[in-house]
Amino acid sequence: MNRHVKSMLTTVLIVLFATGAVILLVFLTRGKGDDATVGYQAPTVFAMDTTLDINIQGLPEKDAKADAAAVAALAKSVEAHTSMFKQGSDVYLVNKNAGVSPVKVHPDTLLMVKRSLELSAMMEGAFDITVAPVVKLWGFYDKKYRVPSRQEIDAALPLVGYQKVIVDEAAGTVMLPLRGMEIDLGGIAKGYVVGEMYKLLKERGVKSAVINFGGSVGAIGRRADGKQWVVGIKDPRGEPGDLIGEINLSDNFVNTSGDYERYFIQKGVRYCHLIDPRTGRQPRSTMSTTIVGPQAMNDDILSKVFVLGSEKGLELLGRLTGYDAVFVNSDGSIVRSPGMNKYAITIKEHI
Ligand code: ADP
Ligand code: MG
Repeated sequence: MNRHVKSMLTTVLIVLFATGAVILLVFLTRGKGDDATVGYQAPTVFAMDTTLDINIQGLPEKDAKADAAAVAALAKSVEAHTSMFKQGSDVYLVNKNAGVSPVKVHPDTLLMVKRSLELSAMMEGAFDITVAPVVKLWGFYDKKYRVPSRQEIDAALPLVGYQKVIVDEAAGTVMLPLRGMEIDLGGIAKGYVVGEMYKLLKERGVKSAVINFGGSVGAIGRRADGKQWVVGIKDPRGEPGDLIGEINLSDNFVNTSGDYERYFIQKGVRYCHLIDPRTGRQPRSTMSTTIVGPQAMNDDILSKVFVLGSEKGLELLGRLTGYDAVFVNSDGSIVRSPGMNKYAITIKEHI
């Protein structure tokens, strides 16, 4: 590997780790003969409260730059519809009009809500966009973290329930029937954006690229040196850079959900941002769940089988075609679906 390429690779890794608070996966190029171009590494974009990194290979820098800028704009435009906090966004208005009236939403938003509701049923309520009233109690929105009382959780739980959401497809509206209900598309929007970015980059003729949007990763084609992209899965309790494994990725997507990026610890107990919508409390059986599969939006949703744990999670995923998973269980054991072996370069059995 020549020195120039090596120093650029180091830079890429440092940038990714420096924003490690939100990045779940890292890209690694490694091994002998890795001196193909590292391509164009776009400056990190901050959107949806996380980081977006794009690497495009095999194109003149001027073209790659234009492509990266075009897809980065998608993150901002989808954020404008889906943010809970931006006044006037679809989600803001749906929440504001809970118990009052239906709200006409952008087709992107409608699609995300519909897909969320479909998969919520399949996932037995482990993924639920109406979980917001309890997420709020734990302080994950205003970052004033706290452990709510049992009474507070019990009072909020009747506002949670994906079955209550009313979608009128013909009218393009979403309505929440109860005052106080709120939806949060944070568990699907990044995956949706990565899927749209993948499509747009391909339309623009990009043949080799990788996108990481806060742990939702999409890989177009192969690297410029002809090898597959390599994605490292973080060790949920390791130092930055420690991995539980590496997988090959090409024209596919991967998504990790974990308890180690956004969490707080109180009296020695860890409380993470993923909540079991059925109980209003943190799931305890898993530290991370990684899904590999052909639809970035679905991967993002499915990674919330985190809530159910590996046994039930693998059973549910087994009913779908093309989706594979790796779970790091709370006891440190690592389990995976049989199909994961197609991608695995190395995956540990235990941490
Ligand atoms: P991760 O960092 O694990 O990938 P995401 O960013 O994909 O997590 O998802 C976190 C978002 O999902 C937050 O906006 C959070 O409020 C919301 N959320 C938390 N628990 C659930 C759940 N069980 N179902 C749906 N969304 C959830
Ligand atoms: Mg995610």
